Amino acid sequence: MVLKEKKIRILLRLSVMKSNAVQIDTIAIETLNLDGMKRLWGRKVSDLAFYQFVEILKYKCIKHKRVLKQVGQWTATTKPCSDCGYPNENLTLSDRQWTCPDFGSHHDRDINAAINILRAGIAVT
Ligand SMILES: [Zn+2]
Repeated sequence: MVLKEKKIRILLRLSVMKSNAVQIDTIAIETLNLDGMKRLWGRKVSDLAFYQFVEILKYKCIKHKRVLKQVGQWTATTKPCSDCGYPNENLTLSDRQWTCPDFGSHHDRDINAAINILRAGIAVT
C-alpha cells in the first residue's frame, strides 16, 4: 500500500507541456535521488522500477518524436511556491498540502512540484 502510494506520487510528478488540448510535445521528469530514497524508505522504493520506467519513456519519446527533459536531482522543485517562488524551508515529508505564507496560495505538494519540474524542464537546454 505504501509502495503503491509512492508510485502514484512519482507518476504525479510527471509534468507535461501541451501545445494544445491533445498534443503533448514535451515531458519533464525529475531525476530522483534513488540512493537517498532507499535510505529513507527502504530498498523496495528503488528496485529498478523507476529506472525502467524512465528508459521506456525515453524510448517512447524518441519513437513518437517527443522531447523528454530531465531536471537534475538538486533542482529545488518541492519547496518553492509555484506561484511566487517563496522557498518553504519548513516543509516536511509528511506535509502533503501547504499554504504559501508570502502569496497565500494553497498547494498540493505533488502538483506544486510538478509545476516547478515543468518550468525547470523547459529551461533545460
Ligand atoms: Zn507563494
